[in-house]
Parts: sequence; structure tokens; C-alpha cells
Amino acid sequence: MQVLRQSQLFQRCSRYGNYVALDSNCLFCKIITGDIPAQIIYRNENVVAFNDIDPQAPTHVLIVPTLHVENAAGLAKISPTLTADLFVAAGEIAATNGLTGYRTVFNTGAEAGQTVFHAHLHLLGGRGLAWPPG
Ligand code: AMP
Ligand code: ZN
Repeated sequence: MQVLRQSQLFQRCSRYGNYVALDSNCLFCKIITGDIPAQIIYRNENVVAFNDIDPQAPTHVLIVPTLHVENAAGLAKISPTLTADLFVAAGEIAATNGLTGYRTVFNTGAEAGQTVFHAHLHLLGGRGLAWPPG
């Protein structure tokens, strides 16, 4: 019998074991469950993508795994396959938007600008993108 912590919701997930956890205190988990609205543009069992509320480019999409994990390195430890799924989604969304070039970014840690501690891949495109980033 699975013991559920009150702060966690569990979803059945065929690929990653019986259950994967969402954190009911997490903004992106609430978007995944629909408790907070977002412009969701892509969804499958493992990945949800939605438009960034404060877009930094004509296309600015956040691509998130449907399990709660703090950052990209943590996600890669849990599942390299799910990490790759985010990039597959990025490519498909970019193609749908007619982007021939785009940038994908994981911010890790407050010092690097991470403000939401649920791993998410930024997909940016539709304008020239300078390098190095700020
Ligand atoms: P980061 O700073 O890398 O953690 O990225 C978090 C991103 O989430 C920022 O680009 C925010 O603009 C975006 N964001 C915050 N709240 C929402 C929301 N309710 N819906 C969509 N995007 C959001
Ligand atoms: Zn979360």
C-alpha cells in the first residue's frame, strides 16, 4: 500500500512506474493538473508545454515533465528518456511554429535565473538571439 504525503499527488504513469509524483505546492504541477490555467499547446502522457506568461521572444514555450523534479540534472537522473522527450517536444513545437532556428535553455538555481523549481525547458525563437546570453 502506497503512503501518500499530503503535499503530493500521485498519477498513474505507464512508462515510469506505477505512480509519479506531483507537488501540490508547485506552480507548474498545478498547470499540469489544470488547477492553474495556462495556454497549453502540447500535451502527452509525459510532457506538457505551454506559452510563457512573460514571453521573451515571439515564441517562448515552457516544456515540462509531468512529474515533479527540481531541475534538469535531477530529471536526467530519474529518466534520461523523459529528459529527451522534452527536446523531442521542442523540435516538434518549433517545426509547428515554422522555426528554422531556436534556443533551448534550462536555468538551474536562482543564480542562473531559475524562479520555478520544477524542471522546465525554455524554447525561444522567432527573433535573432544574441550570444553569449545575459
Ligand atoms: P525560470 O526563471 O527559468 O525558472 O522560468 C520560469 C518561467 O515561468 C518564467 O519565464 C516565467 O515567465 C514563467 N511563468 C511564471 N508563471 C507562469 C505562469 N502562470 N504561466 C506561464 N508561465 C509562467
Ligand atoms: Zn512541480
